Amino acid sequence: AKEFGRNNHQYYSLEMEKKLTRKLDIENGLKTALKQERFHLVYQPQVLLSNGEIIGVEVLLRYTHPDLGPISPAEFIPLCEQSGMIDEVTHWVLSNAFHQQKLWEKSGFPPLKMAINISPITFEKKVFVESVERMLVEFDITPELIEFEITEDAFMHFTQEVKEAIVALKSMGIHIALDDFGSGYSSLKQLKELPIDKIKIDRTFIQNVPAMKRDQAIIESILSLTLKLNNEIICEGIETKEQVDYLLAQNCLYGQGYYFSRPLLAMDLVENWLEKAVL
Ligand code: C2E
Ligand code: CA
Ligand code: CA
Ligand code: CA
Repeated sequence: AKEFGRNNHQYYSLEMEKKLTRKLDIENGLKTALKQERFHLVYQPQVLLSNGEIIGVEVLLRYTHPDLGPISPAEFIPLCEQSGMIDEVTHWVLSNAFHQQKLWEKSGFPPLKMAINISPITFEKKVFVESVERMLVEFDITPELIEFEITEDAFMHFTQEVKEAIVALKSMGIHIALDDFGSGYSSLKQLKELPIDKIKIDRTFIQNVPAMKRDQAIIESILSLTLKLNNEIICEGIETKEQVDYLLAQNCLYGQGYYFSRPLLAMDLVENWLEKAVL
């Protein structure tokens, strides 16, 4: 038993070491990622559930490490946050998304709403609002076409600054969506006090419907609550026809997920969606 325990321990340390090495490799890669153009954006359609028509896209960041290949944002975004480079990365995402928005407009496609993820760390900084304001002018972007997705954890240390940022962005015309709703920290008080336009129900709740009655109950109460608060609602992570039918029956209007489309490169979004869209 002793022998076994020791081996187990060795195995464990090896795993830990591997994880740590990977983390260091990614951190190292990230340092030069912007300069080496190792980031790119993909766009996932958001649709009207009733007919599958595109109403907008969520902008998602991709990073390719020189040795390790593609890394999930779930893995590298937290590292960007820890290293303090997230503000710079967000700036890159906004510039590139705005630039793309303009290109599509010039190609004659109907205006496309863009939902962009903003890290709470960036969101809490005063300079963020000013830099967004500058970029909207610089790229000549209609603010009503931009939506910022903020996870509900951003409100965990819900401060006056966060509230002021939301109010300022909204007065510019930008929309605010609460991402991953139901998965983390949330308070009805904050929902009531913050001028949020849209709520995005977390994919973990969608995953098991219609099979799981408890998840259904949660979705149904979120839907009725948000209806009363006059918030729009979108469900993410929709993968099956059954989920679409269920959500439609619950009067949920908007959705996003692999059932409709994976996140796509700009050129594929044009080919598969924009050229066919009648908005
Ligand atoms: P999120 O904001 O919740 O984004 C949705 C994630 O779910 C995306 O993963 C998307 O590809 C994935 N997804 C979409 N449809 C389905 C589906 O039907 N089934 C399943 N299983 N998954 C689906 P992705 O692109 O790997 O992003 C992961 C997270 O990384 C995002 O979660 C977001 O929190 C963060 N992230 C991505 N891009 C950015 C960014 O530009 N800035 C910041 N701050 N965070 C980002
Ligand atoms: Ca999101
Ligand atoms: Ca989400
Ligand atoms: Ca998430």
